[in-house]
Amino acid sequence: MRLSIKMYLIIFICASVILYQYHLSNAWLISQTSTQDFRVLNAKASEKLKNVTAFFNASSSSNTNSTQTNRTTFVSDCFPPQEKETNLPPLYIITPTYRRPEQLAELTRLSHTLMLVKNVYWIVVEDAVRKSALVTDLLKKTGLKYEHLTAPMPDQYKKKKKGPKPRGVSNRNKGIQWIRKNAKSGVLYFADDDNTYDLQLFDEIRYTKRVSMFPVGLITKLGVSSPIVKNGIFSGFYDGWMAGRKFPVDMAGFAISVKFLLKRPKALMPFKPGFEEDGFLKSLEPFEPQDIELLASNCTKILVWHTQTKKNEPSQALDFAKYNNTNLVMLKQILV
Ligand code: UDP
Ligand code: MN
Repeated sequence: MRLSIKMYLIIFICASVILYQYHLSNAWLISQTSTQDFRVLNAKASEKLKNVTAFFNASSSSNTNSTQTNRTTFVSDCFPPQEKETNLPPLYIITPTYRRPEQLAELTRLSHTLMLVKNVYWIVVEDAVRKSALVTDLLKKTGLKYEHLTAPMPDQYKKKKKGPKPRGVSNRNKGIQWIRKNAKSGVLYFADDDNTYDLQLFDEIRYTKRVSMFPVGLITKLGVSSPIVKNGIFSGFYDGWMAGRKFPVDMAGFAISVKFLLKRPKALMPFKPGFEEDGFLKSLEPFEPQDIELLASNCTKILVWHTQTKKNEPSQALDFAKYNNTNLVMLKQILV
């Protein structure tokens, strides 16, 4: 009898030790998982985590001690309050695009840039009669606020055999039209699908009051197109193609306040190759070069590059007899 009580006691102690160790390892696993999850959380999930934390902080606010105060500081440092984003003036980014072998690559790259920008509306306007399903899918995947429109280039320009065409003009005008109907404040920027944008650019143009301007890299033989700034004051334009233009600048080199645009109901981009920027900026009258707001540290930085992707030949026809019932059939549907 005495022996069996001893035995029970030993079994009980062993079981307790095992249970305690199991509990410890579980707690460790949870903390590991949450650390990893924390690292991979995307912006939206982080937002939710922040809300949950805020809820717990609020509900325990009557019981504040130093540890809780530290924790609150840490969380709010990582995730600035949500109101901050919605308080930011919205950015309306108009992107003309058209079907070609490089299109999805360009839009993928640009979408990944815009996914890092706060309070942005991406207005993607296809030079096409119908919306492409591939572009629709891409836009949905981004999680961005977007507007998907179409505006084909008028036939008279499309059929032109000789000389340059007014690329992206009908698209941009359609975007402007959408802004007139739907936007009240914020800033408009024309972001072609093939350029390269520094995230700092979006922080700077967001507070444009009238029309802001800044240097664009990789333009003409000069390598840059920019307002000239002398002693902090605008004193002309530096551009490889002046052509008698009042505003010799690139499409990527300026941003416009939506309120400023709305006060100018006639402002539009002309179908005039080489003079699209000049024509549009002139249509913003009353507006003179002296009214320009100079960004990028008085135009000493390059925050946008006029990159141009190598043109690719359309992909070769697929031998359907040979590759029927393979993945190549689906891949071919994506390609041009
Ligand atoms: N674009 C368009 N239709 C066209 C050619 C161009 O919608 O037929 C778009 C293109 O996707 C880009 C913008 O217009 O966003 C400017 O075109 P591109 O990059 O070819 O002009 P560049 O930068 O060489 O002046
Ligand atoms: Mn381009």
